Amino acid sequence: MSSSTSCTCSTCCGSAKLGLFGENVFSLKTMRNYLSENAYQKLVSTIVKGEALDHSIADEVAEAMKTWALEKGATHFSHLFQPLTGASAEKHEAFLVPDREGGAVAQFSGKELIQGEPDASSFPSGGLRATFEARGYTAWDPTSPAFVRANNKGGSVLFIPTVFCGWNGEALDKKTGLLRSQHALAAQVVRMSKIFGIKPTTRPFATLGPEQEYFLIDRKYYEKRMDLVQTGRTLFGARPARHQQMEDHYFGHIKPRVMAFMDEANRELWKLGVPARTQHNEVSPAQFEIAPIFEEQNLAVDHNMITMQVLQEVAERYGLVCLMAEKPFAGVNGSGKHNNWSLTGPDGKNWLTPGHTPHDNAKFLTMLGIIMKAVDTHAALLRAAVASAGNDHRLGANEAPPAIISIFLGDQLTDIIHQIEKGGAKTSKPGGHIEIGLSTLPRLPRDATDRNRTSPMAFTGNKFEFRAVGSSQSCAGANVALNTITAWAMDEVCTEIETLMAEDKKRDLNSVLQKVLQGIIRKHKRILFDGDNYTDEWKAEAAKRGLPNLTKTPEALQTLLDKKTVALFEKYNVFSARETKSRYDVYMHTYDQTVALEGGCGLRIARTQVIPAAVRYLGQLAQAQVALPKNAGASLAQTAQKVATLVDSASAISEKLDEAVHKHDSAATLDALVELRKAVDGLEALIPADIWPMPTYAEMLFLM
Ligand code: ADP
Ligand code: MG
Repeated sequence: MSSSTSCTCSTCCGSAKLGLFGENVFSLKTMRNYLSENAYQKLVSTIVKGEALDHSIADEVAEAMKTWALEKGATHFSHLFQPLTGASAEKHEAFLVPDREGGAVAQFSGKELIQGEPDASSFPSGGLRATFEARGYTAWDPTSPAFVRANNKGGSVLFIPTVFCGWNGEALDKKTGLLRSQHALAAQVVRMSKIFGIKPTTRPFATLGPEQEYFLIDRKYYEKRMDLVQTGRTLFGARPARHQQMEDHYFGHIKPRVMAFMDEANRELWKLGVPARTQHNEVSPAQFEIAPIFEEQNLAVDHNMITMQVLQEVAERYGLVCLMAEKPFAGVNGSGKHNNWSLTGPDGKNWLTPGHTPHDNAKFLTMLGIIMKAVDTHAALLRAAVASAGNDHRLGANEAPPAIISIFLGDQLTDIIHQIEKGGAKTSKPGGHIEIGLSTLPRLPRDATDRNRTSPMAFTGNKFEFRAVGSSQSCAGANVALNTITAWAMDEVCTEIETLMAEDKKRDLNSVLQKVLQGIIRKHKRILFDGDNYTDEWKAEAAKRGLPNLTKTPEALQTLLDKKTVALFEKYNVFSARETKSRYDVYMHTYDQTVALEGGCGLRIARTQVIPAAVRYLGQLAQAQVALPKNAGASLAQTAQKVATLVDSASAISEKLDEAVHKHDSAATLDALVELRKAVDGLEALIPADIWPMPTYAEMLFLM
């Protein structure tokens, strides 16, 4: 239903809301009205079937896009890309071409649609540019539709999602690797389909539903917090008496101001074709979550980037600021992104759904084996894929999965896995004898009681939920890792099955699978953990099992230098050795820069705001003492002593911090910041509220 034929008021009825969906997207549905049948069918082949783009239709598609965009009020177009900074990048060009008579016409060519040439020299390339040309180019990704976004004042721009590459095709962005990893995975899925005798009816693809957490605070507080403005997180701030301990925020009633914000954000997202569906209060006060309906992975990653941007922009209209940082406030929950990952096979079915037939179950159990093998072998790579200065504050902080990667399967599946390991034993649980491909699996419960909220990689009924992604990160990196390690494990498993089948032609697939899965489970069962991931016991147990525990970004990123990682990405044509190295360089540099700027910012705040406020208070205390009769005011002297001690401590640590920042020593900078925070937060508890130079946690988290 189009919005023009239904009620257009913004609040009264659901049909108007649905009518909005995708109205600013140059979707297949829209294209049909603007393209010839020939061009439309060719584009469908590329988008739906994954066939190579026929460049002869570029001019016609560009003309159609322009016509549609102009009708939507657009004056400019922009290629939209995702450099390694993790943010999205855009450069707007007007459609305008002078007509030599003092006027102008709107033009947009196929060439301009397909390829752009932004100056690449200011984007991080991790050395890829040193040997190649400084130029980079953006290339149209037809699988993620173009869309028009309007600003508040009615101006709008046509955005065209693109990849961003060096002149010789080196991936300078997040999307290129993602598309390549999807390709690698699809090739192995097709191979596995053959083994299982599945007739392909569609292109296989990975699916993604990213749940996004964020904080909202009032803008008037944000503006007075230099740490938030400059670094996105508070570097100081004592936890208030009331924080999240009442457990009353999670799923609590949403305040009207926040509701209004969410409502507008949803409408904006729906217009852009983002299927935003779920919203609720999160664990910490002022923390929220938005989750979409899952989509094809590349599109879902793009839509998540759009979602982050829309949330931030709409928040501003409500006098709010949307904080995307992983840990904006110490002592309360941090924000992550739950990366719900699955695979749709060429049969159009979700391959992580336990089926109702023995055949489906065989495929499902093989998938579980593949994921176990992939995650156990490449746990460190998964950790590296989510490594950032911001996420280090969250992973392992007793509210997010730990830096130790493990898999949660739930009681029933774990039981089945153990039975396969033993060779198809009788089961005491409902379902009887488990023998792959001969019996159906017992119906697996999908209710919330069987959830393990502490696991970094949890099976949740029909998908794996990778919970270690940081709230501000692009999902691309995590999915490149997930796709590639799955492709590798599937490749290995297919080879093993094919070899065994070829060795003995009489052998049936089920007995081969039994043997292959038994081998995988014996070797990789250490990756399974169903207990509480937050405990110290698990840390000790994981160490015994030999699972990596990379708590800090610099150690985690070392994985990108491992021969094993380099060979993995090379083998599946996801990244060349240089491209992998470039990612290490860029992410390490970003880490060091982030820490250095946090150090510099903390130092400035301590020296120019906190210490001066404390000194002012010391002055007041001294004056008060003078005004009092002799021998009175002992408590004032005591308070002054406490304040003075903390001031001395803050000053001394500031010197240390200054030195660490200047030496570019990230570890020492972080240590000094933690120490400085103790002194500053100590002062916050003593200094009069009217002198304290920054809004407090209580104000920021509760006054909205
Ligand atoms: P919960 O995690 O509480 O079970 P949902 O089942 O709604 O909640 O799933 C959470 C997210 O997982 C949603 O974004 C949803 O669209 C996504 N999701 C569901 N099925 C799949 C799938 N097959 N592939 C990827 N994501 C999925
Ligand atoms: Mg979930």
